[in-house]
Amino acid sequence: MAATCPCCSTVNTICFWGPRREVWWKRPALLVCCLPFAGGIPAILWLKGGSLQAGFWIVAGVLFAAALLGLVVSAIGCNACVARILGDL
Ligand SMILES: [Zn+2]
Repeated sequence: MAATCPCCSTVNTICFWGPRREVWWKRPALLVCCLPFAGGIPAILWLKGGSLQAGFWIVAGVLFAAALLGLVVSAIGCNACVARILGDL
């Protein structure tokens, strides 16, 4: 196996679809995809938290966790992790 980064084991567990093509633009693309979720979800919960249903909290939590993972991987992950987490684009 190639060199591993701190994200490899986590990404390999979550992203069951296997390795994907490594392309240079996937890292900025991942960042752009995740930023609105990582920033917007806490804002929505903060503004409307009291009136939201439990289901929304669960969905928001999963999306927020995925966005955070994407941000971390785009920051410190290796090319293989970035390519894998973004999947086929
Ligand atoms: Zn990695």
